[in-house]
Amino acid sequence: MNANPSSSTRPEADFDVIVVGGGLGGLYTLYRMRELGLTARAFEAGSGLGGTWFWNRYPGCRCDVESLEYSYSFSPELEQEWHWPDRYGTQPQILEYIEHVADRLDLRKYVALNTRVLTATFDSATTLWTITTDKGDTVSAPYIVMATGNLSTPRVPDFPGLSRFQGESYHTGLWPHEGVDFTGKRVGIIGTGSSGVQSIPYLAEQAKHLHVFQRTANFILPARNAPMDPERERRHKATYRERRKAAYDTPFGIAGYPPPSKGALEATPEERDAAYTAKWGEGGSISFLYSFTDLLLDQQANDTAADFVRARIREVVKDSRTAELLCPTDHPIGTKRLILDTNYYETFNRDNVTLVDARNTPIECITPTGIRTSETSYQFDAIVFATGFDAMTGALREIDIRAGAGAEITSKWADGPHTYLGIMMAGFPNLFMVTGPQSPGVKSQMILAIEQHVNFIAGCLGHMQSEGFARIEADQEAEDRWVQYNDTVAQATLYPKANSWYMGANIPGKPRIFMPYVGGVHTYCQLCNDIVAKGYDGFTFSAI
Ligand code: NAP
Repeated sequence: MNANPSSSTRPEADFDVIVVGGGLGGLYTLYRMRELGLTARAFEAGSGLGGTWFWNRYPGCRCDVESLEYSYSFSPELEQEWHWPDRYGTQPQILEYIEHVADRLDLRKYVALNTRVLTATFDSATTLWTITTDKGDTVSAPYIVMATGNLSTPRVPDFPGLSRFQGESYHTGLWPHEGVDFTGKRVGIIGTGSSGVQSIPYLAEQAKHLHVFQRTANFILPARNAPMDPERERRHKATYRERRKAAYDTPFGIAGYPPPSKGALEATPEERDAAYTAKWGEGGSISFLYSFTDLLLDQQANDTAADFVRARIREVVKDSRTAELLCPTDHPIGTKRLILDTNYYETFNRDNVTLVDARNTPIECITPTGIRTSETSYQFDAIVFATGFDAMTGALREIDIRAGAGAEITSKWADGPHTYLGIMMAGFPNLFMVTGPQSPGVKSQMILAIEQHVNFIAGCLGHMQSEGFARIEADQEAEDRWVQYNDTVAQATLYPKANSWYMGANIPGKPRIFMPYVGGVHTYCQLCNDIVAKGYDGFTFSAI
């Protein structure tokens, strides 16, 4: 194998690198590994490439990061050639882009589709990872890269009676490829996160009647989606390189939003209103959070932004009881993922849409004909579960990952994830994660985070090749420090106040730990660069 010269002592492996996942992370990993001259094979459970963008085909599915940003940056030719039709890419547009990239880089032949990885086991004596799959494959490689995604384990709550429902049921994250026609049907949708909020206006247009079961109201801002402005595209493309570079120096990995210079409480009420109104008109979430410096740090400052949004909801929604139910009150704005909408609040002015308060009248069970709450029973032809994912740790914990006695991922993460940089775990040599927990992945422009991680991993492997190392492992002490540091950073913000999937709060019994790194992309990248400059501080290399 090419990975290092000293590996002649190792038994022959099938590949140099096993990649788990055929989404944006897996494809870029394949590309970089091949560039290093390594043999690599990716395994993807879906019947096509694209990961998140393959599975989430619900009506209205669209990215909440602008399309000129939400794309790979590694190829200047690719970014110049590609035309995004809309300000925010739709799921079909993004999938088309991913497939185009795969074809252009000739990556398809390295991906085994329809193949779910079930186990991954490390043999310390041979320094090899061996995976088994649901197709009966047994495949080995010295390195394994988990590009398994953060929101890739769809979850339906364990409602009593679930299996007895006689109508149609769908999860937004497992949407049928042929689409669903709800025309003339009585439809119930459970969940008002990003997936619910994006699909509800579309379902309402088709359904005879749509009941929306909302347990927690979320803060939702206008996307202001529009066809791509040719002048904007031209300007963006003319400065793409500078913008991509500048993105690494920002908190969320997206350039072009002037950072705020003053706190909300330093501004007058008029100044605050003018700032929020301008951002509301512009559309987008980062732009809104950039209104003032302290929105995620100070509750009082945050309240000013939250009040502004609640006032807009009351302006749009005509029925005052519905408007109040839609006003979020249980968490500071921005501490759960902000949602971008098109016509969400307006949808509640339709005669065929009813909001059900699933907080005060909780869902008790699914019946053969619909949903029963503590108050009443509803009859449905179809139920849509927009109930989210076992986020950040779910996909990794679904694979039985073992690296020796006591080193099983389920026990290691029993009280929440433990990683070093979100890239490796102590006790799991030669296993890398792309945007793992305790990295800024989900709190940043995801494709930038993917590229940064995979470049870091490729850098490690390049270093090992040139130094003749066969084994890399995160130090326990470095990992403990990183976990502690993540917690300290998060606790200094308002983020842990929300019952969010960032906290594991959407899964009953999941440990409540704030999982993403929220110190900002700029700080994280600097830390990674420093670690490399210090000879991969916190990692131990060895020849075998
Ligand atoms: P989510 O944000 O976790 O929302 C799940 C929804 O289901 C919540 O409203 C939740 O209510 C509700 N729910 C769960 N269990 C329930 C129960 N037993 N009874 C009643 N309601 C229940 O999931 P998501 O909407 O799929 O979004 C997940 C993440 O994916 C987003 O935050 C975002 O990062 C990403 N995403 C992005 C886009 C985009 O780019 N535009 C689109 C879709 C998704 P509670 O809040 O009360 O738990």
